[in-house]
Amino acid sequence: LPMADSPKRVLVINAGSSSIKFCLYDMENEFPLTRGIVERIGLDDPRLSYTIKDATSATEPVAVKDHRDALRVIAQHIDRPELSPPAGHRAVDAVGHRVVHGGEKFSQPVLIDEDVKRAIREYFPLAPLHNPVNYRGIEACQELFPDVPHAAVFDTAFHQTIPPEAYTYAMPVELCERHRIRKYGFHGTSHRYVTLEAARILKTSLDQLNLITCHLGNGCSITAVRSGKSVDTSIGFTPLEGLVMGTRSGDIDPAIVLFLMRHEKMTVDDVDELLNKKSGLLALSGSTNDMRDILEAASSGDTRAALAVEVFVHRARKYVGAFAAGLGRLDALIFTAGIGENSSPIREAVCAELEILGIQLDSERNQANETFVNTDSSSVKVMVIPTDEEVMIARDTLSVIENS
Ligand code: AMP
Repeated sequence: LPMADSPKRVLVINAGSSSIKFCLYDMENEFPLTRGIVERIGLDDPRLSYTIKDATSATEPVAVKDHRDALRVIAQHIDRPELSPPAGHRAVDAVGHRVVHGGEKFSQPVLIDEDVKRAIREYFPLAPLHNPVNYRGIEACQELFPDVPHAAVFDTAFHQTIPPEAYTYAMPVELCERHRIRKYGFHGTSHRYVTLEAARILKTSLDQLNLITCHLGNGCSITAVRSGKSVDTSIGFTPLEGLVMGTRSGDIDPAIVLFLMRHEKMTVDDVDELLNKKSGLLALSGSTNDMRDILEAASSGDTRAALAVEVFVHRARKYVGAFAAGLGRLDALIFTAGIGENSSPIREAVCAELEILGIQLDSERNQANETFVNTDSSSVKVMVIPTDEEVMIARDTLSVIENS
C-alpha cells in the first residue's frame, strides 16, 4: 500500500513484564482510535481489554503464552473492520515503543535501527526488569509490521540534561564509570509531557519556565525543571531511589542493606525483592499499595494507614523543598499520575507546610481537581495536569520520522 503523505496512524507499544499496553492514534487530531492492554502474559487466563473510539469497550480471554503472541493479538485487534483505514491508507503507519533505559546515549527519541537495538541490549543490566521486555516487544513488532518505521522513546531521555553535580554518586569514580553507575531518572516522558502542558497552559515559553513536577502514581518521582529542562530528579540509578512508592522503599540508609544481609542472612535476591516489591506503601499499610484504600483506612482510624500517608507526604515535601532551593525561582508546582491527579488530600498534605516557598493551596479548587489549585495570592502556581505518556510517545514517533 502507498504511504500516506505523512504518517497518520501511530501505534504506541508499552511492553511490561506480564502485560503490553497499546494505543493506536490518528495523529491528524491525536484521536485514540483504540487503546487497551493484554494482561497476564505467560500466566493463567490471559486477557485483552480494549476500547474503540472511546465508545465501546470489552474484555476477552485470549490464547497468549508470550509477548510475541500478545502482539499478534494486538495486530489482529487493530485489523477489525471498524478500525479499517480510509482506502489507500495503512492500518499502521509507524510504531512508537516505550523503552525504559536509554543510558547516557539517548537524550532524544530515535528511529530504531541495529545500532539502537544493540544499545538497548547493552543496557539490559541497568534495567533488567524492563529493557529485555521492551526489546522483545520491538523485535516481535518489527516482524508484525515490517514495512513501517519504528521509534524508541526512552524514559530516561528527558533527564539527560541533569548536570554532573546532581547525577554523580559520591563513590569511587573508576568503579562508577566501569558499571555506568550514576543517576539516570525515570518517568521522563511523563515529566516532559506535563512540562510542555504547563508551558502551553501558562502561555510561557519553555526556556522561561521553572517547575517542580510530581509524578505520583504507583511509581513516584519528583523532577526539578529549570528553563524547561530537567536539572534534578528523585529517582536514581534504578527506579528504587527517592519517594515512597507503591511497593518500593525509596530512600533508605544504604547500610540497612548490609545490616539485613548480615543479621537476617538475606541474599542479594532477597533484598532486591524486599525493597522493590515488598516495601513502600504496601509494607507501611500492611495490606495494600493502593493509595485510595490507604486514605480510606486512615480516615476510618487505621493508625498504620495514617502513618503510611504521613511518611509518603513527608518524603514528597522534602524533595519539593530541596528542589525549590536549587531552582531559586519557582513558577509552578505540578501534580500528575494516579495519586497526583486524583487525590486532593495528598496534594493538600504535601503543600501544607510549603507556604515558606510561596505555595498556597486553595482548598475548594483543590477538592474540585481544577487545573489551578492555588489561591489567587499564591506566588507559585499549583497545577493538576493529567499525564499522557502514550500521546507523547506518538508525537515523538511522528517527529522522529519527519526529521529522519
Ligand atoms: P498510576 O500508576 O499513575 O496509575 O497511579 C496508581 C495510584 O493512583 C494508585 O496508588 C491508586 O490508588 C492511586 N489513585 C488513583 N485514583 C486515586 C484517588 N482518587 N485518590 C487517591 N489515590 C488514587
